[in-house]
Amino acid sequence: MAVNGTGPYDPDNIFAKILRGDIPCKKVFENEWVLAFQDIAPKAAVHVLIIPKKPYVSFIDFTKSAPTDEISGVMKSAGQIASDLGLDDKGYRVITNAGENGGQEVPHFHLHLLGGQSLPPFPV
Ligand code: IMP
Repeated sequence: MAVNGTGPYDPDNIFAKILRGDIPCKKVFENEWVLAFQDIAPKAAVHVLIIPKKPYVSFIDFTKSAPTDEISGVMKSAGQIASDLGLDDKGYRVITNAGENGGQEVPHFHLHLLGGQSLPPFPV
């Protein structure tokens, strides 16, 4: 079910539990800014979720609330992950869903990194 992309951060959302280590994930990458792990229901051959370690509800919350060095750190990490996964030459897609109309299900800001195959026309 889609969630409201605004409002207070829910510390019991599933990505918060993954960050705390309360539930497992298939980790792809981690640094000071992000944790990246495989989506549990992949929509492409490569489907990685990239989440900031700090609690932001949505893209707008993240870009309004996070300091510039964190925004830079998260975005550079996402680029590094895409590159490390060898996606540069064939192409890939990075999206974020926000709020009810955007189809966001987990209320912790995240990027979907999709690739490893020919993707259908957007929206996937
Ligand atoms: P959203 O719709 O943009 O919020 O995407 C949430 C994504 O999280 C979906 O693609 C789900 O398949 C994925 N997901 C939900 N729970 C888990 C989990 O426990 N591990 C990994 N991915 C998850």
